Amino acid sequence: MSLSFDPNSLTLPQGHYIGGTYVAAREGMTLYRPSDAVAFADCPIADAALVDQAVQTAKQALKTSGWGTLRPRERTKILQRWADLIEQHGETLAKLEAVASTRPVGHLIAGDIAVTAEQIRFFAEFADKEGSDLVPTDGNSLGMIMTEPYGVVGAITPWNFPLSMAGWKLGPALAAGNAVVLKPSEMTPFATLYMTELAEKAGLPAGLINIVLGDGPTTGNALTGHPDIAKVSFTGSTGAGSAIMANIARTGVKPMTLELGGKSPQVVFADADLDQTADAIARSILGNAGQACVAGSRVIVQDSVADELTARLIARMTVIRPGPTWDELTDYAPIISERQIARMSSIVEASKAAGAECLLGGERLDRPGYFYAPTLLGNVTENSPAVREEIFGPVLTIQSFHDEAEALALADHPTYGLAAGLFTRDLSRAIRLTQALQAGTVWVNRYSRSRDHILPTGGYKQSGIGKDLGREAYQANRKSKSVLISL
Ligand code: NAD
Repeated sequence: MSLSFDPNSLTLPQGHYIGGTYVAAREGMTLYRPSDAVAFADCPIADAALVDQAVQTAKQALKTSGWGTLRPRERTKILQRWADLIEQHGETLAKLEAVASTRPVGHLIAGDIAVTAEQIRFFAEFADKEGSDLVPTDGNSLGMIMTEPYGVVGAITPWNFPLSMAGWKLGPALAAGNAVVLKPSEMTPFATLYMTELAEKAGLPAGLINIVLGDGPTTGNALTGHPDIAKVSFTGSTGAGSAIMANIARTGVKPMTLELGGKSPQVVFADADLDQTADAIARSILGNAGQACVAGSRVIVQDSVADELTARLIARMTVIRPGPTWDELTDYAPIISERQIARMSSIVEASKAAGAECLLGGERLDRPGYFYAPTLLGNVTENSPAVREEIFGPVLTIQSFHDEAEALALADHPTYGLAAGLFTRDLSRAIRLTQALQAGTVWVNRYSRSRDHILPTGGYKQSGIGKDLGREAYQANRKSKSVLISL
C-alpha cells in the first residue's frame, strides 16, 4: 500500500476546538505548504476573549468530570485508549501533519505516530503509580507530602514535530489530572486538532483539551498571562521563552516549564570509530533538515583526524532524497518557511564574509518549495555567526582541537546547553567529559533520543527550565502539599 497522497484531497479541520466542538473563526494568516510554497489554508488567531472562553471551558470541564479526583486508573485507561486510536488513525494524522509541516509522510508513519502514542501510554502509567509520600516525623504525628493537579495548564508547542510535541505536553498534564488549553504553532495546527478529537472518542470528557489557534503575540500572550492558567508548559525558541517569562512576571506568578533552543556540540576524539561517528553526525543534522532542537550543529574534532572526518561527512551529507512531504519516498525535509530560508542564508553568508569556508552546500536547492542544501562550513571560530546562533537548518560547522581542555572550551556555548555528543573509545575520558559538559542530555558514541521516554529532556543555561518526558515531567504537572496530622 502506498503512503503517498494528493495534498489537495485533504479535508482540514477548521477553527478552534473548545469544549468538544469546532468554534467558527475569523480569517487569520495564510499558510503555505513548505513542500511547494502553495497557499493552502488559513490559521485563525484567537483573541483574549476566545482564550478566556477556552480557559473557562477547561475549568468547568474539570469540575463536572471530576477528572483530577477520579480513581487514577480510570485516567490511565482513557489515555491508553487514546494512544491506541492515535495508532489506528495514524494514516489520517500523518497526512494532516505532512501537508502543513516539514515531516515526510513516510517518517511520520515509521516514527512520529508511534512515538506520540507511546509517550501518552508512558505517562498514562504514572497516573496510578505515583502518589503521596509518608515522611518520618516524631511518633505523635503523621507527616505526608500530598500531591494534587494544578488545574488548567496552558501549553504552547512549536512546528518542528507538532504531534510528538503535543504528546509531550498533553500526556503528563492529563495523566496528572489537569485540563489543558493548548496553542499549537500557527503553521501546523491540523494534526493536533484531529488528535484532540480522537481523545474524546477514547472517552476523555469534552473540555479537558481545548485548542486555541493563533500566533504568539496575540493568542500565546493571552494564554500565558491568563489568571486562571495555573501552570505554563512551553516548547519553542529561547526568545519566545524569555518573552513568556516576562509576560508571566507582568501578570502574576506561576510555575513554568520551558524547553528552548540549542546549539549542540558533537565532540569527536581521534580514537572514535569514524564511520559510525560520521553516520551519527550526518543523521543528526539532516534529520528534519536540521529543524530539531537537539540538532548536533557544531562538530568539534581532534586535529589529527579532522580531514578524515570531514571527508566522511561530505560523503554522507551528499546522499539525500528531497521531495514533497506527501511523497512516501521523500527522505530529506523542506524548511518550514521562506522566512526561515532567508534567515539561514543570511547566517551562512555572514559566516562566509567572516572567513568561513563552504565545504558543501551553502545555498537553496533549485526546486519548488523551501529546500536548503546540506551545508558544511569549515574555518570557523567561536565568533562566527554559524557557530554562535541557532540556525535550525541543515548547516553544520566543523572546528578542530588539540587536547581535552580545548575540546571542552569549544564545546561550551555561552547561551545554550541543550544536548551534546561525545565520540571516543576511552571509557574514562567519556565519563570525565560527560560530567564536564554543560548540557541537559549527553549522548556517548551515538546521537539520538530514540524512544526512551523515561529519560527527561531539558536544557542547561538558556536552553530551558524544567524537563519534559521522564518522571520529572509527570511530577511537574502536580503541586505538593505538606500535611502534618497529630496522632
Ligand atoms: P517559536 O518560539 O517561534 O514558537 C514556538 C511557539 O511559541 C509557537 O506556537 C508560537 O506561536 C509561540 N510563541 C511565540 N512567541 C510567543 C509569545 N511571546 N508568547 C507565547 N507564545 C509564543 O519557535 P518555533 O520556530 O516554532 O520552533 C523552533 C524553536 O523551538 C527552536 O528554537 C527550537 O530549538 C525550539 N525547540 C525546542 C525543543 C526542546 O525540547 N528544547 C523542542 C523543539 C523545538
